[in-house]
Amino acid sequence: MLHTLKTYFGYDSFRPLQEDIVSHLLARKDALVLMPTGGGKSICYQLPALLSEGTAVVISPLISLMKDQVESLSANGIPAGALNSANDETQNASLRRACTEGKLKLLYISPERLMAEANYLLRDMHISLFAIDEAHCISQWGHDFRPEYTQLGFLHQQFPDVPIIALTATADKLTRDDIVKQLRLNNPKVFISSFDRPNLSLAVKRGYRKREKDNAILDFIARHPGESGIIYCMSRNGTEQVAQMLGKHGIRAAIYHAGLSADKRNEAQDDFINDRIQVVCATIAFGMGIDKSNVRWIIHYNLPKSIESFYQEIGRAGRDGLPSDTLLFYSLGDLIQLSKFAAESGQQEISLEKLQRMQQYAESDICRRRILLSYFGENVNHDCGNCDVCKNPPERFDGTIIVQKALSALVRAGQQIGTGVLVDILRGTASPEVTEKGYQKLKTFGAGREIPARDWQDYLLQMLQLGYFEIAYNEHNHLKVTPAGSEVLFGRARAQLVVIKREEKGTEKQKRAAKGSRTEVPGMEGNGGNQQELLDVLRALRQQLADQEVLPAYIVLSDKVLHQLCTSRPTTIEAFGNISGIGEYKKKKYGKYFVEAIKKFSK
Ligand code: ADP
Ligand code: ZN
Repeated sequence: MLHTLKTYFGYDSFRPLQEDIVSHLLARKDALVLMPTGGGKSICYQLPALLSEGTAVVISPLISLMKDQVESLSANGIPAGALNSANDETQNASLRRACTEGKLKLLYISPERLMAEANYLLRDMHISLFAIDEAHCISQWGHDFRPEYTQLGFLHQQFPDVPIIALTATADKLTRDDIVKQLRLNNPKVFISSFDRPNLSLAVKRGYRKREKDNAILDFIARHPGESGIIYCMSRNGTEQVAQMLGKHGIRAAIYHAGLSADKRNEAQDDFINDRIQVVCATIAFGMGIDKSNVRWIIHYNLPKSIESFYQEIGRAGRDGLPSDTLLFYSLGDLIQLSKFAAESGQQEISLEKLQRMQQYAESDICRRRILLSYFGENVNHDCGNCDVCKNPPERFDGTIIVQKALSALVRAGQQIGTGVLVDILRGTASPEVTEKGYQKLKTFGAGREIPARDWQDYLLQMLQLGYFEIAYNEHNHLKVTPAGSEVLFGRARAQLVVIKREEKGTEKQKRAAKGSRTEVPGMEGNGGNQQELLDVLRALRQQLADQEVLPAYIVLSDKVLHQLCTSRPTTIEAFGNISGIGEYKKKKYGKYFVEAIKKFSK
């Protein structure tokens, strides 16, 4: 397995879980894989495909995703193809032949096409495995529901012996259960990797006006010269305004939203992928079809509607693992607009709850990454050091007793209450909800009388964010104590809470600190100018090779590989091939050009 990983993909080791998943699939068992965007899902089925006889069939929702995957595989010398409406009939005919003759290792196909081929092509070929990419599309709980995906349950009926691997970056439990059920997965093993993406920095700016936002955006982009980024806006109008504003300042930005023709959208996407434009101003409609690994930053011009959407969107930055920056603007106006959307949506309660969690992230006083990860069910016991809160830490105090009071009241109420009633109990307020259930007789009734209700709300928010309890969305939003919460409740752990500060405006000092922060490329700090010059040379060479082959630059070599080339400066083709991310095929194909360029530069 390791040998094949190195030969084809050039990687020296597996990322967490990849090896287990590959082995599991090779044992011909079903799997559900949850990994964040950029976590390395593709290897999980591509490697088994290479190690098995026959062809792996990969179901993917978008032509652009298939194209990207097929190009990356081909660039590594792996025979792969995509059967879809973007091909002409001759192309499709030769692809079908390649499949039946067993010449392809991977075939990408849309769910509609798959259904149409169920009794034709699929029967005539030897299928090693089915991989269902973006598997959350099957569930209406997910955020990209695709009705076509719901028919995929037929796969296991028709091909009971072929293993299925479903992959997604959406981790919530409803979606997860739905995937397993609808695909009729056979006793699947569920692999959940950490959702942490430590290379993404996190920052939030609260309550900025339009002018201030524009200035902040220009500042931000100035700190990322020539680097690709996406600005997400809530409305089509917003994308147009921001793009115009950038244009006035000499930054080439495309717009992308559902109101544009398919041609226009494809053009924007293509220009972005091929580095012809630096910025895309987009509504959420943009990005699902983007696997570009060198997106260096993401800005949210408005608050997203849920943490899932937010995380998936920022996840489009830094897939290559290099440091990347994210910035979220958050205003009351956004909140009101989004609450309205949520209230009008088909699933009002869930939508509002999700929005609330997003808001909590934006308003947080504690490490933002801890909030994100606790949302995805991960308990983290340290601050990240790479978010604005960590960089400008708020004051803390030992809040163990406060936490114990709250959790104890919650437990005594049978964990059958939401935050409102919990605060009533703590404050000793005999509200109708309280008296109806007789909670005024609880020992903890009024135990937190000395703390005002709004402060209790804030502390509960902090506790939620610290992972001491969870909200059961499908159980009337009742609160449930987590194992981490029990530790504090029973005095086995102490809890640090943040001192509540009501007024909060950015100080001059904070502003200066923010200005000074700049993304540093690891290993590039020393040797400054010289390194940067070499990087520019190699980048130009990569672009030239990419243009010749009509491929995006990041498919020829990733940014990460370029950076490694700059630090290790290989002067032989062997040494070039040792760089992580360069397999045999790329070594033979590109080695001589890069080695020559490095030699020439070092002379
Ligand atoms: P996902 O599909 O989960 O969003 P990808 O499969 O596109 O993520 O992988 C993200 C990036 O990580 C890609 O550039 C990929 O080449 C890289 N990658 C995957 N596995 C490894 C590994 N074992 N070692 C180094 N890089 C890896
Ligand atoms: Zn942090």
